Amino acid sequence: MNPWIAKAVVLAATVVMMAIRAPHGHRSRSVEVAKSYKTPRESGLLVLAWVGFFVPLIWVASPAFWFAEYPLRMGPLVAGVVCFVIGLWLFYRSHADLGTNWSITLEVRERHRLITQGVYREVRHPMYSALALYSVGQALVIPNWVAGPSNFVAFTVLFALRIGAEERMMAQQFGIEYAAYTARTKRLIPHVW
Ligand code: SAH
Repeated sequence: MNPWIAKAVVLAATVVMMAIRAPHGHRSRSVEVAKSYKTPRESGLLVLAWVGFFVPLIWVASPAFWFAEYPLRMGPLVAGVVCFVIGLWLFYRSHADLGTNWSITLEVRERHRLITQGVYREVRHPMYSALALYSVGQALVIPNWVAGPSNFVAFTVLFALRIGAEERMMAQQFGIEYAAYTARTKRLIPHVW
């Protein structure tokens, strides 16, 4: 199959993702940060996430990763599109449910509330589940060993190093309420983990 189909899919998914995030990024600037837990490690993780995000765009726009190319096939392409659609839906829902409590990094906002409803009812990190699904979609859609897994690698490192710190921050902020929430929910996959 023509790799331009994959390029069109990746571009469309990227545009949708940016469109979902943009209003929240804009609004979050107007909500005061009460307490920041941003460490140098957190800054490094954000840089890594940006690299993971840009590598597919470099693949779309240039032959930079020509040496890692392999033929595009229908099965992985369709499976990848399904992952993109579910991942982007969950990305949209988790932003809508978090509202003004969302931050790109580890921060507690003024009047921060603990959200336990909507997509937060079953899992504590639905936005990270969404990004995991999105990165699996990307690995399936892009027929390239470098550009395909870039987000998957970046997010795996991000999740591994951030989730523990984020949960400690939330426990410190919300105490017994967060302990109860943790006791009845999973981290990323409903009923599993
Ligand atoms: N880990 C969550 C949220 C990612 S955004 C997810 O994957 O869905 C990161 C910020 O969201 C954190 O800095 C924290 O301030 C906030 N946050 C995380 N879980 C929250 C919750 N259940 N309720 C309110 N704010 C939350």
